[in-house]
Amino acid sequence: MEEFGFACWDCGATNFIQGRPKGFWTTTHYELPGEWTCWNCEALNRTPDD
Ligand SMILES: [Zn+2]
Repeated sequence: MEEFGFACWDCGATNFIQGRPKGFWTTTHYELPGEWTCWNCEALNRTPDD
């Protein structure tokens, strides 16, 4: 598992989202949830695509 930090679009707080590697041969592509909720303001955020 790898953690990625994303800034909330609303309040700017950094959220750490956990991703799974898409394949054992790569460490550069991770599967992330498409949407997540900010821990700080509960705004719905979308994970940016690659
Ligand atoms: Zn927020």
